[in-house]
Amino acid sequence: MKIGIVGSGMVGASAAYAMVMRGVGREIVLVDKDEKRAMAEADDIYHAVPFASPMSIRAGSYADLAGARVVIMAAGVSQKPGETRLELLGRNQRVFNAVIPQIVTHAPDAILVVATNPVDVMTHLTAEIAAGHGVASGRVFGSGTTLDTARFRALLSRDLGVDTPHIHAYVVGEHGDSEVLAWSQVEVGGLALNQFCDAQGITLDDAERARIDEAVRRAAYRIIEGKGATYYGIGSALARIVQVVLGDQRAIMTICAPADDVAGVHDVTVAMPHILGGDGMLARLPIALNEAEHAALARSAGIVKAAIDSLPGGDA
Ligand code: ADP
Repeated sequence: MKIGIVGSGMVGASAAYAMVMRGVGREIVLVDKDEKRAMAEADDIYHAVPFASPMSIRAGSYADLAGARVVIMAAGVSQKPGETRLELLGRNQRVFNAVIPQIVTHAPDAILVVATNPVDVMTHLTAEIAAGHGVASGRVFGSGTTLDTARFRALLSRDLGVDTPHIHAYVVGEHGDSEVLAWSQVEVGGLALNQFCDAQGITLDDAERARIDEAVRRAAYRIIEGKGATYYGIGSALARIVQVVLGDQRAIMTICAPADDVAGVHDVTVAMPHILGGDGMLARLPIALNEAEHAALARSAGIVKAAIDSLPGGDA
């Protein structure tokens, strides 16, 4: 099964490496405007194959994406000193306007997974460009808060002494500062969080909850401060998303996809729990938030909507 990765920078290459380590797919094609970089990453990762799963990895062109089941879009430009977020968005918009038509022309049947930040806005834009080329909605989505949800579960797991698969906890909204940790919906082994804590004699007071909330929300800042970029976590999240699609696994993940309405904000793309399968995003699930969380989600969706509307060229 062929997987394409467009943009073989740190995120794209880490996704490829995670797929090799997890044995996801059979063939990976790396496409980058920097061909030398793509070739170097392909070679380096290919040399890990004897220690992992059988896989072919090579650098290629857009034409080499033909027949791919999934294409990850991880290409983008980074912020220049003094550049505003909007100017950066405009430059990434130009990259996407050039690249997405190439992907959907050569791999019209692929599921397109966007990883470039700001991922909600870039996914919204990608869905619009792809729709113009006849790609059905649901076949384009972004990584959203898949990683933030994993971080939330990992931190809860540490405090609760339970492994992460038995913790249901979601982060929704923007993948960024305004994201919403849905504390009121956390469940552990079928019990509400408070019930679980009572049963186990665990105290998870407001201060500890605030610490977890901050650690999830600010994780990227701390990592970037220490090492300049984040990529292993998101690379692993992307590998998991591809695995779910290839295996039609029907997993519930907090990816982002365009929606008519999120907490009263119309025509916006933010992360919500979705059922994911072989045809991409199969369904968006509602989430029963409390009043404060609902207001926070409305605010978060509003922030993303404003960014979408402010894209050069207007309503993207
Ligand atoms: P990240 O940490 O998000 O992966 P990087 O800067 O490491 O960021 O990687 C971004 C990659 O996207 C680079 O390898 C860059 O060459 C690639 N890229 C940028 N613009 C384009 C484009 N128009 N087409 C293909 N690849 C691109």
